[in-house]
Amino acid sequence: MSETRTDKAQRLADTGCVQAVRRYPNYIKAQVTGTNDLYNVIVFFDGYYSCTCKWGQCRSISKDFCSHAIALQLTLEKETS
Ligand SMILES: [Zn+2]
Repeated sequence: MSETRTDKAQRLADTGCVQAVRRYPNYIKAQVTGTNDLYNVIVFFDGYYSCTCKWGQCRSISKDFCSHAIALQLTLEKETS
């Protein structure tokens, strides 16, 4: 029953865990309620991201998105479609 990162992101997006979405010229910022905590996520339009979760702190210099960053993207796609 291991949930993939994309599954988790979809669940976060579907259950309204992505909140306080703010758009800036070069990035989008949001707060995502995770399993135990609230995370501050920033997704930059150049494809990189930043997140205060453990995964994000290790990997935010890459484009290997954490579930919170993916959830933010999914939420935005839903809004614009
Ligand atoms: Zn994260």
